[in-house]
Amino acid sequence: TDAHLTAIEGAGALNAFVHHTPDIACDQAKAADARIKAGDAPAMCGIPIGVKDLFCTKGVASQAGSRILEGFKPEYESTITSQLFDAGAVMLGKLNMDEFAMGSSNETSTYGNAVNPWKAGNSDAALTPGGSSGGSAAAVAARLCLAALGTDTGGSIRQPAAFTGITGIKPTYGRCSRWGVVAFASSLDQAGPMTRNVRDAAIMLTAMSGHDPKDSTSADLAVPDFEAMLTGDIKGQTIGIPKEYRMDGMPEEIEALWQNGIAMLRDAGADIRDISLPHTKYALPAYYVIAPAEASSNLARYDGVRFGHRADIGQGDGITEMYEKTRAEGFGDEVQRRVMVGTYVLSAGFYDAYYNRARKVRTLIKKDFESVFADGIDAILTPATPSAAFELGANFSPIEMYLNDVFTVTVNLAGLPGVAVPTGQNARGLPLGLQLIGKPWQEGELLNVAQCLE
Ligand code: GLN
Repeated sequence: TDAHLTAIEGAGALNAFVHHTPDIACDQAKAADARIKAGDAPAMCGIPIGVKDLFCTKGVASQAGSRILEGFKPEYESTITSQLFDAGAVMLGKLNMDEFAMGSSNETSTYGNAVNPWKAGNSDAALTPGGSSGGSAAAVAARLCLAALGTDTGGSIRQPAAFTGITGIKPTYGRCSRWGVVAFASSLDQAGPMTRNVRDAAIMLTAMSGHDPKDSTSADLAVPDFEAMLTGDIKGQTIGIPKEYRMDGMPEEIEALWQNGIAMLRDAGADIRDISLPHTKYALPAYYVIAPAEASSNLARYDGVRFGHRADIGQGDGITEMYEKTRAEGFGDEVQRRVMVGTYVLSAGFYDAYYNRARKVRTLIKKDFESVFADGIDAILTPATPSAAFELGANFSPIEMYLNDVFTVTVNLAGLPGVAVPTGQNARGLPLGLQLIGKPWQEGELLNVAQCLE
C-alpha cells in the first residue's frame, strides 16, 4: 500500500486519481495485515485498488466526474465496495471518469481528462486512456494500483482496457449489484474489474458478484469461484466470428489483430466458425436512444436541492430558476446533450418513433445472440475497439466519438458478459485489444477462453 501511495504521488500528471484516501488505505492495510497474521486472509486481502468516482463510498467524495455533485460525500457505501472491503481490499482513492460515465475519451470529466501512460512511437502527444473508466485504466496500466473498479454501460470498461493494454470484463447484467453506483442507464449499467491479467479479473469478479436484496435486478444465483474455472482447456469449444463486425474502413492493424486472435484460439484447440449477427448495424443508433432516455430520467434528481452543487440565484428568482441555473452550471455539454436527446425521444409525440422502436431493435439484437448460442457457439471473438488510443484534444464530433462504441454496445443491449484482453501492439507500439462475448452467467467459461489470448 505504501509503495502504491508513493507511485500515485509521483504520477499526478496522469490525473488518474481525483480523490486520495491514504488514511483509509493505511487503516485497511493494517486490518488486512492483522487478518493475514490471524490466518484469515480472504481473496483480496491487502490488495490496493482504485475505485471509479461513480461508486458511492462512505464519507469520501463521490462526484461521478461531475460538477453537479461537488461536495457530495455519501452516508453509505455501495454494495460492491463493501463486498470488496469485506474481502480485504484496500482503497487508495477515487478514479477519474467521463461525467456521469458519458464519453469515450475521459474528456467530459469535470476534473479534466486522465492521460494514457502509453505514447505512440517517438511522439510526445498525450493520448486518451479511453472512457468512461479512463482513470481506472490509466491507474492500472501505470501500476498505480493492482486493480480498479470500472463500470460499463456501452463499453466503458472494455474500450479503456483495450486503449491501455489491460484486461476488463463487463459481467452479465445482474451479476453485480448496482446499489450505490450512480445510475447512468439502469438497464445497461454493470460494474466490473479492470486488472493486469485475466486471473486477477477472475479473483476480483468473484469477490464483487452476488445477489443484493437492495438491487431488484441483481440475480439470485450462486457465484462460482471464477479463478478455479481457469483450466486453460478450450478444446472442442466453438468460437464464432461475426461477419457484421468486419466494418468498412476498419484499419488493417485491427483486422490483423483479429486474425491473430483467431489463430491463437485455433491453436488452443477451439473450432472457429463464421457466424452472422444480422442486426448489429442497428445497435449503435438503438443504444444512443435508450441510454440517453434512461439518463434523462435518472439525472432528473440533480436539482440543486438534494445533492452537491446549487447555483446562486438572483433576487426575485424562484425554484424553477434555481433548478435551471444549477443544472446549466452543474452539467457539462455532453450530459446536457444526452438529457435533451433523452427527453425528446421519450416525449409523447416521439416515444413510439424512437424509444419504442429502439427497444424492439434491442430485442432483435438479443435474439441474434441467442440464436448463435443455441446453434452451438460457445463464445464470440471480435475486436474491442475500431482503433488504438487516439490523441487527446482531437475534437471529434459527438457522432465520431460514439463510433468508438460500435463493437461494445451490442453486449450491453443483450445483457451478456464481455471481456477485453490485450493481445498485441500496433506499429507505433500502442496496445490493442480483442473482445470475447459469452453466454449469460458464463463469466468463468469466458475468462477461461480469454486466458488463451494472453
Ligand atoms: N461511450 C459510451 C457512452 O458515452 C459508453 C459509456 C459507458 O459505457 N459508460 O455512452
